[in-house]
Amino acid sequence: MSFVISDVQIFDGEAVVTKNGAVLVEDGLIKAIGEDLAARYPHLETISKPGHTLLPGLIDAHCHPYGESSLPEQAFRFGITTIMDLQNEHHQAVRQKQWAKERKDFPDVKSSHHAATIAGGWPEWFERRYNNNPEAKWDNWPNVANIDDAEPFIERAVRDGADYIKLFHEGGAATDIQGLVQPREEVQAAVVAAARRQSLKVIAHALARQDTIEVLRAGVDGMAHSFYDKPINPEIIAAYKTNNAWLNPTLAAVGSLTGEANDLLKSFSTDPRVVSRTTLHDMSLLSRCMHMSCKGAKWEYAIDSVRQLKAAGFDIICGSDAARGAPSVVFGATFHLELHLLVEKAGLLPVEALRAATGVTAKRFGWNDRGRIQPGLKADLLLVEGDPVTDITELLNIREIWRDGVRFEGHPGFAK
Ligand SMILES: [Zn+2]
Repeated sequence: MSFVISDVQIFDGEAVVTKNGAVLVEDGLIKAIGEDLAARYPHLETISKPGHTLLPGLIDAHCHPYGESSLPEQAFRFGITTIMDLQNEHHQAVRQKQWAKERKDFPDVKSSHHAATIAGGWPEWFERRYNNNPEAKWDNWPNVANIDDAEPFIERAVRDGADYIKLFHEGGAATDIQGLVQPREEVQAAVVAAARRQSLKVIAHALARQDTIEVLRAGVDGMAHSFYDKPINPEIIAAYKTNNAWLNPTLAAVGSLTGEANDLLKSFSTDPRVVSRTTLHDMSLLSRCMHMSCKGAKWEYAIDSVRQLKAAGFDIICGSDAARGAPSVVFGATFHLELHLLVEKAGLLPVEALRAATGVTAKRFGWNDRGRIQPGLKADLLLVEGDPVTDITELLNIREIWRDGVRFEGHPGFAK
């Protein structure tokens, strides 16, 4: 199966490489990029799309599909061809990966499988409250409470097939939750050290400034959220520097936790391009905030962290924190909202936001097969009408999606 996509602007995951170029796809891979491919391969099907932009398929660096197929499907309709599951039940992660293998109208799935959880800690508290993972078997969850638990946990993660390690450092300071059990910093450091020995990267959840400092000190590779209880300070920047850490700010989720994203969520959830790709249930979730914050918490603290860390040269990657049944964080839609926020609130250029959704994420995780439009890489592609490199909101003008070179024909009942 070979074809040419021609007469398009090409953003290759790093930059716009041509305003009017073409891509040759062969057997699921990108074969060539050039100006005159349609003329050189006249016998092949040519999809000519002047006025459109071709991008690598998007990578959502933070989500929780649990055991549902409908949620990754929804992400796929928004041009997301790889989802990164950051904590799941092992059997559900296996199921997700099986679907990803069997279907091309479904994103590829990377997963931590079980995270380094602790009994009575986060995210058990959250999941019980929202009952958003009805299949959860709490007894199967790892209980990484002591330094000695780290090595066996990592051995289990390797056996399970984890693509990276996720840990939680949530003491409740920002979320204003009392009584959460939280692993000590030394335990987190032991998890990181054990992961290193297996060449696994470690992603950390923290929502408060002090928790962020501790977990960066423990050595993690990147943060799954920006904190919002206090303003960024030099200690945070120094801690990022020690690890050359990246930040996935999840600004939409944080604005929902503080309640300040309310108006934006309401207007975003009436955009017909969003409505036509989202289930009714998720539309109602999208328009609501989570409201979980301490006194003095501010969305602006999280936003300003992105500004300052970006200015200091740290990588920003884009993830939605989409989770089944949770207000405001829905698959596909919230990822696009996040890109909008990175540009409108945190001051990224649209091209920087697009990198955060494609090339930077692939690079930071060492995935050399995706995230860019380059010969030899997977033909995971997104075609949008207009120019999202000038106006990020045009990324929602989705016209075609390919995974491994297979053109998406749509899911019944939704816009293609
Ligand atoms: Zn999450």
